[in-house]
Amino acid sequence: MICEMCGKEMANLLPVRIEGTVLSVCRDCARFGDGVKAGGKQGTTTSEPSVIQARLDNRERRMKSRDVYETGEESIELAEDFSKRIKEAREKLGWKQEELAAKMNERVSIVHKLESGGMHPDDALIKKVERTLDIKIMEKVMVVKGEKASSGKVLTLEDCIKKKK
Ligand SMILES: [Zn+2]
Repeated sequence: MICEMCGKEMANLLPVRIEGTVLSVCRDCARFGDGVKAGGKQGTTTSEPSVIQARLDNRERRMKSRDVYETGEESIELAEDFSKRIKEAREKLGWKQEELAAKMNERVSIVHKLESGGMHPDDALIKKVERTLDIKIMEKVMVVKGEKASSGKVLTLEDCIKKKK
């Protein structure tokens, strides 16, 4: 038998898939393709086929995780307009930034940064802000990764409701 890749005369040839075509090749050439028989290729030490396999695995994983997202997933995240919400709530109460800072036991610069969007509060600070001002700056968002949002855009529940109408 003759290897279809290098033309060497060999006693045994292996069927491998190379760029979509199944060829009968010698052992030396077999490493350039993927074994046709499932699980037939063991202990691969050459890098090329395993790199291809890793890529295929990755693609499979990506597709699987997208399936999960396509149904939509809820998560709680910091509201995009949290700065505005904090500022408006504070002004409604007639507090100065200094007063809010004092009530939260934080520095004024923290309040300033929050209201200017210059920092994203951590969970502890979020809770403190919400408690002190009696507002919510976290909101439920629906992560939609379907055809319409293939860019991975994060939609709020409000957006989803608006779209249905
Ligand atoms: Zn060969």
